Amino acid sequence: MKLVLKNLTKAFPNRKKGGEDVIAVNNFDFEIPDGKLIGLLGPSGCGKSTTLNLISGLEAPTSGQIFFGDEDVTNVPPENRGIGLVFQNYALYPHLTVMQNILFPLQNLKGDAKLSKEEMNAKAIEVAKLVQIDELLDRKPSELSGGQQQRVAIARALVKKPKVLLLDEPLSNLDARLRIQTREEIRRIQKETGITTIFVTHDQDEAMSISDLIVVMKNGIVQQIGKPQEVYDNPKNLFVAQFLGVPPINLFKSSFKGKEAYVAIRPEGFEITPNGKYDLNLDVVEVMGRDTSLVCSHNSCVGKNIRCIIPAEKAAGINPGPIKFNANPAKRFVFDLETEERIC
Ligand code: ADP
Ligand code: MG
Repeated sequence: MKLVLKNLTKAFPNRKKGGEDVIAVNNFDFEIPDGKLIGLLGPSGCGKSTTLNLISGLEAPTSGQIFFGDEDVTNVPPENRGIGLVFQNYALYPHLTVMQNILFPLQNLKGDAKLSKEEMNAKAIEVAKLVQIDELLDRKPSELSGGQQQRVAIARALVKKPKVLLLDEPLSNLDARLRIQTREEIRRIQKETGITTIFVTHDQDEAMSISDLIVVMKNGIVQQIGKPQEVYDNPKNLFVAQFLGVPPINLFKSSFKGKEAYVAIRPEGFEITPNGKYDLNLDVVEVMGRDTSLVCSHNSCVGKNIRCIIPAEKAAGINPGPIKFNANPAKRFVFDLETEERIC
């Protein structure tokens, strides 16, 4: 199912008396293609959950429209939109077993949609197998790990075969290893089912690794939409350049075409060589195993320091003190000092 957001805006009244409205979602105007996994990415408070709530119908927009395929669903109640929802805190019913939790959405179906007990059981078992919890059907949520609980929540969201699956920071309660495992699972499940999925996260690594497309947001405004690698390689503005990438992109205030500008270089964009064009002072060499991180300083650096990531085998013989480098042009961007838009 293709989704279209048309001039979609949500304003909340300010809690402070006389304060301006908070525009949580500001004039969103884009299309989410059918069958893809979209990562909605941005810092806390940028309007990700509000966007999801508008799509699900839990919130009504201040203005604008939402289409599922060709159907305008702006005024359709959530239960009739054909969506599956998964939240950070799983929201399972603690007194019900895994099986009963998964069956729950099927038990309220009315009229033509009503299912027999056998049909319901078959559907529940099918999704339990899909998310690989079919061994745990008799357990209560308290007897499951966080990762298993989130799988149950995903199964429950999928059991009615939604047209759109909406996941709001689904991995935030899991530890680092499980987060990576579960995000790969979500990707697999999305590919197997082909359900158009919107995945909300503040974690750029998470969004980049599993999304077909990412939508980068800031203060309720879409900054850039594209394939993760394209956005990383071609950030439209300084915010996007700084939000994607670990360690973050390095920033210098420098002159460009006779004018002061921000020059930004990705950590992997430094070639350390004695006949390099530019200078750095290498303060600390950090061994990371596969790579080596060079922590450097420079008098026009914006922020605390400069981080260069180089392959470990190239780090031999590089010692603290003055060093020289060349910048890989594909890893270097220039941004206007005032607008912070990309100029080169
Ligand atoms: P995110 O999910 O990206 O962290 P949210 O969508 O939750 O961001 O919030 C976006 C902005 O809207 C924030 O400034 C938040 O304080 C505000 N906001 C969200 N929900 C409400 C609400 N019900 N009433 C007032 N302000 C809200
Ligand atoms: Mg949120």
